[in-house]
Amino acid sequence: MWKWRRLMRLSNRSLMAFIFFFSMSTTCLYFIYVAPGIVNTYFFMVQAQGIMLRDNVRTIGHMIRLYTNKNSTLNGTDYPDGNNSSEYIAQPTTYLPENFTYAQNLPCPERLPSMKGQMEVNMTEAPMEETELKLKHLDIQFGGHWKPKDCKPRWKVAILIPFRNRHEHLPILFQHLAPMLQRQRLQFAFYVIEQTGTQPFNRAMLFNVGFKEAMKDLDWDCVVFHDVDHIPENDRNYYGCGQMPRHFAAKLDKYMYILPYNEFFGGVSGLTVEQFLKINGFPNAFWGWGGEDDDLWNRVHYAGFNVTRPEGDIGKYKSIPHHHRGEVQFLGRYKLLRYSKERQHLDGLNNLQYSPEISLSSLYKNITVNLNPELAPIADEGWGDVGRAEMRERCRLAVALEWHLEYTWAMTTLCC
Ligand code: UDP
Ligand code: BGC
Ligand code: MN
Repeated sequence: MWKWRRLMRLSNRSLMAFIFFFSMSTTCLYFIYVAPGIVNTYFFMVQAQGIMLRDNVRTIGHMIRLYTNKNSTLNGTDYPDGNNSSEYIAQPTTYLPENFTYAQNLPCPERLPSMKGQMEVNMTEAPMEETELKLKHLDIQFGGHWKPKDCKPRWKVAILIPFRNRHEHLPILFQHLAPMLQRQRLQFAFYVIEQTGTQPFNRAMLFNVGFKEAMKDLDWDCVVFHDVDHIPENDRNYYGCGQMPRHFAAKLDKYMYILPYNEFFGGVSGLTVEQFLKINGFPNAFWGWGGEDDDLWNRVHYAGFNVTRPEGDIGKYKSIPHHHRGEVQFLGRYKLLRYSKERQHLDGLNNLQYSPEISLSSLYKNITVNLNPELAPIADEGWGDVGRAEMRERCRLAVALEWHLEYTWAMTTLCC
């Protein structure tokens, strides 16, 4: 009897331990699934710390070598061995002087005296109405358009912002971006493309919608794809386009100002209208978090382009900290990315239909769309339709994980 009781107590304990570890592991899995950005940020932070540590060790090693080697000196023009980091690239100093005079019939220069470099970033939340009043002096046309009067703008830039349920971020972005673009003497307008409905967020499809709608307004020649939570830190980060597609957000504070990987094309990027048409826009098949920017990188390269980035600290951004409320990771992205080349001309601007609702406000045009995979059918059912298959798979996975979690919590509560 005594033995039996002991055995019972033991098996009770192992059951508890089993439930505990089981629930921990499912919680971890569930967390990775529903908080993809957070997990990624931590991953890249650890990676960045590793890179910084390695660079420090290298530099210290180099200093020791220099110190012990009497024949060489570190004379201000020498850089540590093999270090091609942009930190060591001299910042351009060829900005025009303060007394530069503008001419209405001449193109606005790219390096203006008004572009001072590092900006103050203020992440304080404020209501949109307050922001509109605060920016009244900028004289932005109702609907978000502005163009310089003292010279001919070099670029007409449509700024596209994908959006759902991030109302606190928009005013912060406008407060920094609008004055910066004016200092750069660019013609611009803001388009907020808002997704409604119950489908997972589709950043890429929103950009395609935004592009098509913006082109109905004006013959823009440059389009900037801008996350709402990315605040530029340097007003010399010129938002004009170029011979090659541009990645503006090269250094994010959330990745410790280190490019997370060479092919990273997220946050803020810009293409000329011609370049964007040539690559058939963004893919429409990426539902949920991740991968669509990597696919854009592939498209750009398959079309024969390279990507340029701002030098040194010019490409620094602060990202507004946020939660991923009800957002999910797109697990099918790896499979889709393997077929970037084949999908490029089947999925993008050319297979997209939608019915937008449009409204104007003081600082931007709002384009609201209810998105679903039927709006962008893909001819090939085999691999082209991973997006839709993934949606079904994701539902099953999410339900299974949620069920799993609830079951383990219920069991733990019952047992304890
Ligand atoms: N976004 C949004 N609502 C969402 C998800 C994304 O407005 O629910 C937009 C927003 O512009 C955001 C961008 O898509 O900056 C990228 O998404 P997210 O910030 O979630 O990506 P992360 O910063 O985690 O890579
Ligand atoms: C995702 C990208 C994302 C990047 C940085 C990658 O794993 O595929 O969409 O921009 O991580 O967070
Ligand atoms: Mn973000």
